[in-house]
Amino acid sequence: INILLLGSGGREDALAWGLRQSPSCAELFAAPGNPGIARWAECLAIDPSDPAQVVASAVARNIGLVVVGPEAPLVAGVADACRAAGIAVFGPDAAAAMLEGSKGFTKDLCLAEGIPTARFVRIADTDAALAALDDFGLPVVVKADGLAAGKGVTVAMTRAEAEDAVREAGGAPLVIEEFLEGEEASLFALVDGETAIPLASAQDHKRVGEGDTGPNTGGMGAYSPAPVLTPELEARAMEEIVRPTARAMARAGTPFSGLLYAGLMLTAEGPKLIEYNVRFGDPECEAIVPRLKGDLAALLLSVAEGRLGEVVPELSDQHSMTVILAAEGYPGTPKKGGTIDAIEAAERVPGVTVFHAGTARHASGALLSVGGRVLAVTALGDTLAEARARAYQAVDAIDFADGFHRRDIGWRELERRP
Ligand code: ATP
Repeated sequence: INILLLGSGGREDALAWGLRQSPSCAELFAAPGNPGIARWAECLAIDPSDPAQVVASAVARNIGLVVVGPEAPLVAGVADACRAAGIAVFGPDAAAAMLEGSKGFTKDLCLAEGIPTARFVRIADTDAALAALDDFGLPVVVKADGLAAGKGVTVAMTRAEAEDAVREAGGAPLVIEEFLEGEEASLFALVDGETAIPLASAQDHKRVGEGDTGPNTGGMGAYSPAPVLTPELEARAMEEIVRPTARAMARAGTPFSGLLYAGLMLTAEGPKLIEYNVRFGDPECEAIVPRLKGDLAALLLSVAEGRLGEVVPELSDQHSMTVILAAEGYPGTPKKGGTIDAIEAAERVPGVTVFHAGTARHASGALLSVGGRVLAVTALGDTLAEARARAYQAVDAIDFADGFHRRDIGWRELERRP
């Protein structure tokens, strides 16, 4: 089949890399893509969030599967439009994308289904929200109830901080919730209607600074698997969280199809849901895809066609680590136009693949940085320590003077099992 991949980040470069190696993938297109993705796919200059443009170019190129990378096209109804046009698509309809698009929607679903999550209230009034803070201890978590690109969450250590966050919302819909104590881990599941199977676990590093300090970013690195999510805890998360969610969505007439990413807090009482994303995480995707064996295109197509279970995902026992190279200034205003060199040298390190995120090819042929997160360097190894050694050997081989990265990706796990 011919495949059209939507998106332009490191996540999509990893998916393109995996799809290109799939025996069942004939021609591969990407929209809009990036210079890394252009190694594996023909890039099309269309807007990936415009349902009409996506359907028209899919029809024109005899596309048998559309794979949606980021959330924006899903929320914009691109998957709905593909399905309506009879094109198989990996990614949920807009109604099911609400699991990511509205925190309040997901919290209500958890409450109705008895899914473990932090105790919460939904409020859209400043005075009522201030009063509601009395019902929670400290710390307390205040969240905007819409897509906020990771910037709508305040973990308030003091009452004053919590009140500030409430006032800043200006009466917009909020979720106020109890602070959960524990370690975070991500579970990636494939879901097609009522069927859900686990794909992989991962942990990421959201903060810009070493030791998990400083402002939040899209993610500075990740590793997979996350051994802290033991097989027992993973099974509990599937039974108590992911499967009841899939069943509830199907019952409501808005079945979920695609990848469901459960952000979990591993508490003393067991895994609890912090949030859902309705697509792969970035950079977790760059850590997971290189661990997948078998035909990725066939796997995603089986989900898109409602045949999940016919193609069993096969994961290598190896550990992977992804280190993000970001441009100076990120997550504020990143410096653009820095030159990047010697990616080939990095890829000569065994087990290493370098994925592109914010890169552009200058007319001269030079590779330049044009975004905050610029490259994602992934290494596989028999142990996490080996993956880390290879990842940093590769990072050190890359010539990107205007870039920076964290040296401590995986520190929690490596402290436990050096
Ligand atoms: P993301 O960028 O991860 O998608 P988001 O804006 O969707 O972020 P959440 O994932 O809900 O927001 O919260 C962001 C972070 O805040 C979480 O990864 C977690 O570290 C922290 N957090 C959120 N809710 C809680 C909670 N109830 N208890 C403790 N920490 C929490």
